[in-house]
Parts: sequence; structure tokens; C-alpha cells
Amino acid sequence: MFMYRHLLFTCLLLLSFACNAQKVNITLLQLNDVYEMSPLNAGKTGGLARVASLQKQLKSKNKHTFGVLAGDLLSPSAIGTSKIDGERLAGKQMIAVFNHLHWDYATFGNHEFDVGKPALLKRLEETKTVFFSSNVLDSATHQPFANSQGTVTFTVDGVKIGLVGITIPHTPVDFVTFLDPLAAAGKAIQELKRQQADVIVLVTHQDLSSDIEFAEKLDGVDLIIGGHEHENAYLVRGAKLVPVTKADANAKSAFVHNITVDKQAGTKHIASKLVFLDESVALDVDTTAVVDQWQQQAFTAFKQQGFDPDKIICHTQEALDGLEASVRNKKTALTNLIAQAFLHAYKSAELSLYNSGAIRIDDVLPPGALTEYDVIKIMPFGDSISLVQMSGELLEKALNAGLGNKGKGGFLQYANVSNANKQWLVNDQAIDPKRDYKVAINNYLIEKGDTGLEFLAEKDNTALTRLNEPQFDARKVFIQELTANNCATSLPK
Ligand SMILES: [Zn+2]
Repeated sequence: MFMYRHLLFTCLLLLSFACNAQKVNITLLQLNDVYEMSPLNAGKTGGLARVASLQKQLKSKNKHTFGVLAGDLLSPSAIGTSKIDGERLAGKQMIAVFNHLHWDYATFGNHEFDVGKPALLKRLEETKTVFFSSNVLDSATHQPFANSQGTVTFTVDGVKIGLVGITIPHTPVDFVTFLDPLAAAGKAIQELKRQQADVIVLVTHQDLSSDIEFAEKLDGVDLIIGGHEHENAYLVRGAKLVPVTKADANAKSAFVHNITVDKQAGTKHIASKLVFLDESVALDVDTTAVVDQWQQQAFTAFKQQGFDPDKIICHTQEALDGLEASVRNKKTALTNLIAQAFLHAYKSAELSLYNSGAIRIDDVLPPGALTEYDVIKIMPFGDSISLVQMSGELLEKALNAGLGNKGKGGFLQYANVSNANKQWLVNDQAIDPKRDYKVAINNYLIEKGDTGLEFLAEKDNTALTRLNEPQFDARKVFIQELTANNCATSLPK
């Protein structure tokens, strides 16, 4: 009896071993839109040290675990704006931490191009991560940027994985040539099929609507790992039921994709799971040390720029909501305070306007001590503020366009402006289209104009006159406002 049981057990073992031998498991760890290295929400969520712990845990289960970033890494961040040895860090700190993580693959996000070409090329030299894109080319050479490539293939136990990178083409920079995303992806997929890839993954940084279109129109795609939106999403689209996934920005969550391929049986299976990087995930000690070292360097640099990052400005009585999901859709105590600060920067200003995309913190600052570093994190761009004169007609057009930008960075925030029964009011008076208004406005809006607000950009605009040279660092103006009113917030109207 004993012998029989023993034999059966051995057979089962052999059988399962034989079965498993045909199956190859590959784990992809997805991040997208990572700007902050340190944890958010008073240390409770996100942080690259938590990513490191998750990565170690996944690697211990499956050594074939690969990190994949779906764009937006180098900018914007508070630390990235600090100058060390006369040069902005411009993502150098992120590359260093991702190198520490031995991160495998990344495609470009639109914000990678914020830092300018020389800094981008330096980051690509420094990185150990393979950057790839099928639709981003260096304008000078019409080839992928130096130290980046068009597509990626790698093989695990005879299974070939192909990655296609795609970036939203709406970034007005002259050093990048964007190929049409859908056409470029289609071509790259054909190329990977010719190379006999068993699994094809699109790694995209574009709107969810484009990802859905890709899932419906492109044949041969197994998974779409996306970025650009900052809230997590999981949907299945197209005739072949292709999963489309986005994790939360700033590593508040990560997606884990377990891909199982059985070439003999001709089957592929993908199981995707969203993992929240909250207090249940430990902070990896080594990674924390690397992150802290960069933060210390940045603090030293901020001091040289006239900031005192550790200085407590005042204590807030209520939370300041800077989540993108909030500030790009409505007024919050935080957006209101900033609008008031801009308005007060110029005595003669009747109202203030700024794009909500100027706020980057994507976090809620709990009630209590507010430091100058918090302010730098809220507005890392450090834009200047101008006083302009614009016609009431143009002002109404801008306010309407701002409203049409709900959910986007071009959603406008303002002070001394209200809307009643679809009528815009300044100082509680209906806007007179024929009158001119004095507006305190962030410089970005009158130089670039933002999505749907391009008409504000000065050069095409006779209804707008700049009354001064751009001045006042928006962050210093905000610190002044906070100091003057001792962090008092009024609930937004
Ligand atoms: Zn983006």
C-alpha cells in the first residue's frame, strides 16, 4: 500500500513537472506617471521605496519579472527643478533611483520633453533602463534619440516578448518629431510579428480613448500598458478582448501582469492585478537612503535659490486638496488660495487666472504645518506672473474654454470671477465684452496658451496687451499670501 501511494505521488509530481515545463511565466511590473520619489500623504502612500519592496517580492516569486514604465518620469517635480552645480537636476534624480531599482524598460511621456534636448540626451546616457518608442524621433536625425530604440524584444525560456512604445503627439517642442501613433504602432506590430514575437505589449502614454481605439483597430496586441491619465483604470476592449491598464500616478499603485504562455498548447493567458502601494507595503531601506540623499541635495539647492524648504510658513486648519482629480475639475481651498495670491501680486489687477496644470502635487496636504518645500511641490514650475489687459470678449472666451477643459491641465482657476446662470461675472458684475480688464495671469498661459487656450498666446492676439515684463516667482507670491493671512482658507465659492 505504502509503495503504491509513493509511486502515485512520484507520478503526479512528474506529470505536473512535465505540464509546467511547457508553460512560461513572465511578470511585468507596470508604473506610469511618476514625478515624486518620496511617499505622499504624510508618508502613507507611494514612494519608490515601496516600489522596490514590491519588485523584490515579485522577483522572489518569479525571476522573470520586468519593470515597465509607461512614460512621465523626468518632469515635473520639485526636486527636478533644483539647481546643482548651476544645472537643473531635470530628472537626473529619477534616473538615479530607477537605476538603483534596475528598472528594465520605459517609453517616453510627454513630460520627458519638458527638460529640453540637452538634458534629455544626458538622461538617456545616464540611464540603465531601455527607453523605446515607435513614434518619437529626434528631429535632427529622424531616428530614435541616441541611447533609445524603436521597439524591444526579449526572450524568456523560448518565449519572445515584443514591446511597442507610443507617446501622445501633442507636445509643441521642435526637437521631437512625432509619427502618427496608430500608424506607427501598426507598423511596429508588423515588424514584431515578422520577428516571431509570441506576446506583443503596447506601452503607451496617451489618452484612454486612444488606447481603446488601438485595442479595437490593431490586430495582434495582447496587452496595452498605458499612462498619461493619473487615475487607475482597467478595461477590456476590441474583438480580442485586449486589457488596457493604467496605474495611479506617483506609484500610489502599480499593475502586476502575470503572463503565462504555453507554446505547445498555443495558449496565452494574462492576469492583471492592481496593487496599492499603501502602508501595507514596507519602505525598502536601501532605496529610501538613495531617495533621501537626492532630497538633501535638492534642499541645499533650494536654499541657494532663496527658499527655506524646512521653514514652516504657517499652520492650516483644513486640508489643502491638490489632487489632480480635484484641481482639474473644481475649486478647492488650495486653488482658491493660489488665485488670491496671484490677484494680490498686482494692486491694479481686477481678477486672476491660471491653468490648473500649474499645480502638480497630486496630493492632499493634511491640516497642520505647511512648509516652503510643500509650496515648491505644489508649483514646481515656478512660473512668473504677468499683468495683462484683455477685452471682456476675450476673457469670456478664455473662461468658457477653461470650463471646456474639465479634467485637463487647461481647466482654469481664478479669483474675483464667478458664474451665475451661465453668465460670467467679475467682482459680481456681468462681464462687459467691450470693456478691458486687468488680469494677473501666469506667464505660461500667455506664452503657450495650453490645450484649447492657444488663442491666449500673445502673438496671435490683439485683444491682449502685456502691461509689464513677467515677474514674481509664483511660489514666492504664494508664500507671501500664506504668511499674510496665516494660512487662513475660505471655502471656495
Ligand atoms: Zn502625460
